[in-house]
Amino acid sequence: MSADAPADRPIRHESGRRLAPPSLAGVPPEPGVAKPDPILVADHVSRRFGGLRAVDVDHLEVQRGTITALIGPNGAGKSTFFNLVSGFDKADTGTWSFEGRPLQGMSANRIARVGMVRTFQLTKALMRLTTLENVMLGATDQVGERFLPAILRPLWRSQEREIEARADELLERFKLTHMRDEFAGTMSGGQRKLLEMARAMMVQPSMIMLDEPMAGVNPALTQSLLGHIERLRDEGTTIVLVEHDMDVVMGVSDWVICFAEGRVIAEGCPQDIGTNDAVIDAYLGSRRSLPHEPEETTR
Ligand code: ADP
Ligand code: MG
Repeated sequence: MSADAPADRPIRHESGRRLAPPSLAGVPPEPGVAKPDPILVADHVSRRFGGLRAVDVDHLEVQRGTITALIGPNGAGKSTFFNLVSGFDKADTGTWSFEGRPLQGMSANRIARVGMVRTFQLTKALMRLTTLENVMLGATDQVGERFLPAILRPLWRSQEREIEARADELLERFKLTHMRDEFAGTMSGGQRKLLEMARAMMVQPSMIMLDEPMAGVNPALTQSLLGHIERLRDEGTTIVLVEHDMDVVMGVSDWVICFAEGRVIAEGCPQDIGTNDAVIDAYLGSRRSLPHEPEETTR
């Protein structure tokens, strides 16, 4: 740790892994640990599918203004947890609050309106909309797939100078202006991920949840996506990210929460998590590659 590093910047361990940012300095690396300024607090959130307990989170807090990564083997419950807290699936038990406001039982749309959004993959229907229309859809409805473009278009016309202007700003920001009037279906994998982020940003969220945003993206665009994510964090947006690539996790996250079999089994800054026995066991148990070791399998 160097003494002259700027106080507002996360500092790296000599291993290259990040240490906790100042806002999380001194928070012990313990599962379910309390944070100084949590934006999301979840208690006893569980979800069963038949006999399988997919999510069974006792307590989880996300610190405001950080990039928090959720990691864990396949099937650990990360995506289900995202779906539960964002209102896209119904929890069997539990309470959770965002900015101090209870969210359980609230629809995904209302949750988006209070500032917590998750990204969505482009479905077939959305591929037949233009890039601009896709981004504008983010302002209209977070589950836009349910609505036919034919219904939306006249609606847009009636209100939408302002929304169009905001969408254009986001296209500019995510370097997609040249694709503005092209069908989304013509985009590369990486461009689609940028579009998904732009769409989510239309509601000006204070927290954005990204489920494997780098999946299927080439390495050059991965860097650019990471740059966008860091910039959003630096501007004050809280980011929660599910990510498999440990180099990405270790390089970009301020804090890492590890799931296994539906539970939080470890948390800490990347430096702590990279040497955490419970994390290593979880990955070994699932025969996935360890952080910073060669991939056993290709995805
Ligand atoms: P992760 O995102 O960590 O890979 P998931 O949250 O997708 O894990 O899945 C957790 C567990 O729940 C897995 O065993 C998965 O098969 C199961 N699961 C997820 N969604 C459903 C569903 N809709 N119906 C039945 N089982 C499901
Ligand atoms: Mg998943």
